[in-house]
Amino acid sequence: MTHVFHRHLHHTPPVAIAASGMTIRDAAGRDYLDASGGAAVSSLGHGHPDVIAAMHAQVDRLAYAHTSFFTTEVAEQLADELIGGAPEGMSHVYLVSGGSEAVESALKMARQYFVEIGQPQRTHFIARRQSYHGNTLGALAVGGNAWRREPFAPILVPATHVSPCYPYREQHEGESADQYGVRLAAELEAAILAQGADRVIAFVAETVGGATAGVLTPVPGYFKAVREVCDRHGVLLILDEVMCGMGRCGTLYACEQEGVVPDLVTVAKGLGGGYQPIGAVLAQRRIVEAMSQGSGFFQHGHTYLGHPVACAAALAVQRVIRRDGLLAKVRDDGEAFGAMLREALGDHPHVGDIRGRGFFWGVELVAERATKSPFAPGLKLHARIKNDAMARGLLCYPFGGTVDGRQGDHVLLAPPFIATRQDLQEIATRLAGAIDSVTRAALR
Ligand code: PMP
Repeated sequence: MTHVFHRHLHHTPPVAIAASGMTIRDAAGRDYLDASGGAAVSSLGHGHPDVIAAMHAQVDRLAYAHTSFFTTEVAEQLADELIGGAPEGMSHVYLVSGGSEAVESALKMARQYFVEIGQPQRTHFIARRQSYHGNTLGALAVGGNAWRREPFAPILVPATHVSPCYPYREQHEGESADQYGVRLAAELEAAILAQGADRVIAFVAETVGGATAGVLTPVPGYFKAVREVCDRHGVLLILDEVMCGMGRCGTLYACEQEGVVPDLVTVAKGLGGGYQPIGAVLAQRRIVEAMSQGSGFFQHGHTYLGHPVACAAALAVQRVIRRDGLLAKVRDDGEAFGAMLREALGDHPHVGDIRGRGFFWGVELVAERATKSPFAPGLKLHARIKNDAMARGLLCYPFGGTVDGRQGDHVLLAPPFIATRQDLQEIATRLAGAIDSVTRAALR
């Protein structure tokens, strides 16, 4: 009998008791190869000695000091580390406890910025369908997953959703990547104008989409066109890199590969690599200056802002990534991983698309390749793949997204950066086995 209330009330998962490197062990002694880092969290794998040592040292020295009284050396060092590798113009870091808090904080920062500079009429956000930004009410409002929003829709802040960049399903026949990107930017501009350009606070987007449509990589030029539209109308650009940032795509920030600089960027998951709950918002200097010259403070806050042990863990994770050259490894091995996935799954009759970059890959499943029709939602294919993969000792992250208003299934892979090529091959092989056996059984 469990008294722990996770999410599903009728399902008790195995009990995890230990983890090391790429593997998590349960109470029955089964080992699971961690191909998804939980939900793209464990960037360094499990039990990394340097991170554990840094956390111990911090607990011994100073476990907690409230930010209304103090800053700490470790929070200052982490902010320096993050700004040191950040896109141009980023000047300050706001340290919170996770992804939703980071998004929530970014939305409020953007709103307060306009209040400070005398544009309080800006009250509206624009975001994208097929997106996920977190489960707190502000983050849920900008999220574009209809199923998650539905029960709460009447109590969400105003937000409009435009098309995501989803070439597999939405790029027109004969349309070049450039033309597609320009079309999407024009759709964004039309949405801004429909709202009234002076009423929009920000456009919010995941640089590389994660948890709703299975890794959506933007076409080249899309974000540049988006940035131009935002600038033309004085709308801020908030990039959510909670999942795709912190090296997951092979660069510290995913937007580096798009050649754009956002006004605010959120990170979490890989920031602390799962060793501690931590997230952050990085802000452009002008946003921070508007607050410092205006009211003098950001009208927000949480008890655990800049938590010293969380900061120590994140600082250690980021230093190991830098010291061990893991970004270059993720880029090189990520290409090899993509090739392994294509080799193992590319010809499968129910694999519609395989896409990704770095150590961030999605496999989209279809009932029929020619029509790209999704499997019937009632089959709950994603749940069956998760269970089948676990029975094979593999942790992958499958879920159902909304495709054309229907449920589609895909599998997200986000292995720790320490994965060897042999680990990556093992992941591709076991996943192919799970997908094959589940799709065969579902169609029987
Ligand atoms: N933004 C994105 C892009 C995410 O993927 C997630 C988590 N899946 C969140 C925000 C929310 O983060 P958290 O679950 O830590 O609140």
